[in-house]
Amino acid sequence: MHAQAIRQAFLEYFVEQGHQIVPSSPLIPRNDPTLLFTNAGMVPFKDVFLGLETRPYRRAVSSQRCMRAGGKHNDLENVGYTARHHTFFEMLGNFSFGDYFKREVIGFAWRFLTERLDLPPEKLWITVYEEDDEAADIWINEIGIDPARLSRCGEKDNFWSMGDTGPCGPCSEIFYDHGPHIPGGPPGSPEADGDRYIEIWNLVFMQFDRDSNGALTPLPKPSVDTGMGLERLAAVLQGVHNNYDTDLFKPLIAAAAQLCGKAYGRDMATDISLRVLADHIRACSFLITDGVLPANEGRGYVLRRIIRRAVRHGRKLGMETVFFHQLVAPLVAEMGSAFPEFTRAQREVERALEREETRFRETLERGLSLLEEAIAGLAAGAAIPGEIIFRLADTFGFPVDLTADIARERDLIMDMGGYEAAMATQRSRSRAAWAGSGEIKTERVYHDLAMRLPATGFTGYTACAGEGKIL
Ligand code: ATP
Ligand code: MG
Ligand code: MG
Ligand code: MG
Repeated sequence: MHAQAIRQAFLEYFVEQGHQIVPSSPLIPRNDPTLLFTNAGMVPFKDVFLGLETRPYRRAVSSQRCMRAGGKHNDLENVGYTARHHTFFEMLGNFSFGDYFKREVIGFAWRFLTERLDLPPEKLWITVYEEDDEAADIWINEIGIDPARLSRCGEKDNFWSMGDTGPCGPCSEIFYDHGPHIPGGPPGSPEADGDRYIEIWNLVFMQFDRDSNGALTPLPKPSVDTGMGLERLAAVLQGVHNNYDTDLFKPLIAAAAQLCGKAYGRDMATDISLRVLADHIRACSFLITDGVLPANEGRGYVLRRIIRRAVRHGRKLGMETVFFHQLVAPLVAEMGSAFPEFTRAQREVERALEREETRFRETLERGLSLLEEAIAGLAAGAAIPGEIIFRLADTFGFPVDLTADIARERDLIMDMGGYEAAMATQRSRSRAAWAGSGEIKTERVYHDLAMRLPATGFTGYTACAGEGKIL
């Protein structure tokens, strides 16, 4: 079953259950400066859950584009290494705003997976919050789950909250067992970290309101928020373990492999780099489509970091010239029909990527030589000196996570203390230089302000277009 058909089947199933289809919002949350990116399907509905906004429906379904790179949810480091993490992905979700609750949502999820998609029940494992007897009872006594495949877990994985205060509640997650040939234990077990049992769907029961003392009061009308990664479900339905082997990624990996003259599936390092390219072209293209451009701070800096990471992996695969933008066309071919705004932004996306890569390539080679020299004599487990990490960032435009990515490949660690110290020295040096330059007073004031305040960014691309798009 192709990803496109899976997305469609999900939306249709929930329409049949009385849900309203709500199109995906952009990756930049509207009216929420506290959040870097839309990182879950519920984000566009936050004010509805908080009771600040009403909608003409009480049941909604969406396939929301999400970004988890930077901020509270950051999966950037996992990309290429686990079978299941991306920076950009789509979250399928159904929502109840004070309408149905636990019994109905568990039933919907179970029937969608086992009846509509025909997944074998014995491959599905369930977790509930340790104190949520109600959910455990529904799963065991109404759905008929074998108690051996249900576990109770603690707050970290099975209790959700919107913030320190406000709506919160237990959740219940559904995992798919990809089989004994893959290392990893069942959810809730000490070996659960592996990739054998992959979490596919999180059902959140918004049941309480938490006040500033931490006290929980039951909400008069509890709500439901669910999220299932389209890419993970596609892997299950296409009979592959790794998301990168689904139809969502295969054409991108093939295009990247062809561009670099490499083969996929032969050696680990090449495969990781090809997966990184496939992931990052999606993330970068959708960020630019939604109005983000490379910058030195905030959202634009996340984009810059992702582009530069991709360029470094491309270079590792032998790409000596500007190439990354050439992966936009294969992506548009795959995703353009589901996201028409993306097709319209194609040229702009390509130009922005080309500009950023051209710029980074001016310093990339010299930065890499500096790094190679510095680590040449280091044994496995040693640290890249903070001074080098700082110079790479300051002079050669290497974001710290890019250097960390190289460190990981070489079995090295990062001397972040030394990096902070080098940065502090640089700051005080530039302050001292300024103090001695005999400038007039007002400029001194501006300089002090510039030193104290965070960097500012150009917001015209997002602020002027209203919708946060640059079309
Ligand atoms: P994991 O434990 O595997 O990192 P999660 O618990 O962080 O997942 P949730 O926050 O519960 O994930 O998000 C709901 C669903 O979204 C997950 O069950 C999964 O299917 C999907 N999902 C979450 N993070 C990613 C990601 N980085 N890439 C792809 N899909 C994801
Ligand atoms: Mg996670
Ligand atoms: Mg999880
Ligand atoms: Mg989860």
